[in-house]
Amino acid sequence: MDRCLNNRENAKALAARIAKDAGVDLQDCYQCGKCSGGCPMAGDMDLMPRQIIQYMRLGLMGDVLRSKSIWLCAACHTCVDRCPHDINLPGLIEGARMEAKRRGMIGVKEVDKFTDIFLENVKMFGKNQEVVLEGLYNVTTGHLMQDMVNVPHMLKHKIVGPELNTTKQAAEVKELMLRAQAAENERKRGEQ
Ligand code: SF4
Ligand code: SF4
Repeated sequence: MDRCLNNRENAKALAARIAKDAGVDLQDCYQCGKCSGGCPMAGDMDLMPRQIIQYMRLGLMGDVLRSKSIWLCAACHTCVDRCPHDINLPGLIEGARMEAKRRGMIGVKEVDKFTDIFLENVKMFGKNQEVVLEGLYNVTTGHLMQDMVNVPHMLKHKIVGPELNTTKQAAEVKELMLRAQAAENERKRGEQ
């Protein structure tokens, strides 16, 4: 594990930076647990949403970044809707996931692979192509037959097909994504 996460003050500074980016004041959390109670992914999580914010508050960032939970969050915002303080938990979790990825701490490699392929897909075509996403995902993760049973239904309802579903704004989408990537690289350099 990254040694700087063992230093509680460094870990708290990292948590504060992630919280600031997500527009969250960690002290706003009441620890009421309404977020965990409504989370559709909680059954598979190793740290509940309520615990994620509490661990961040305590500077236990190693536990947060190592958790599977930050990779399993579906960004559905149910927790935000239920939270008495509208705390942006998916924003915190996304920040933690990006930090974990930077450090090579990939808790669920399939989710990481899926996200990378999805983003490349959007960068290339301006929007997601189901065929490309599913094909590359299955091949690169070794889950060759995953979701194959759904293919007839997807073909019938034109969710997938032989033609690529592109957009006229593909060039603008690519430009936006390249700018976001450049800003992220710049930020990383500033942190070194
Ligand atoms: S619902 Fe909001 S206040 Fe309650 S534990 Fe979750 S984040 Fe904290
Ligand atoms: S956004 Fe993530 S943490 Fe919040 S309820 Fe949805 S899956 Fe759970």
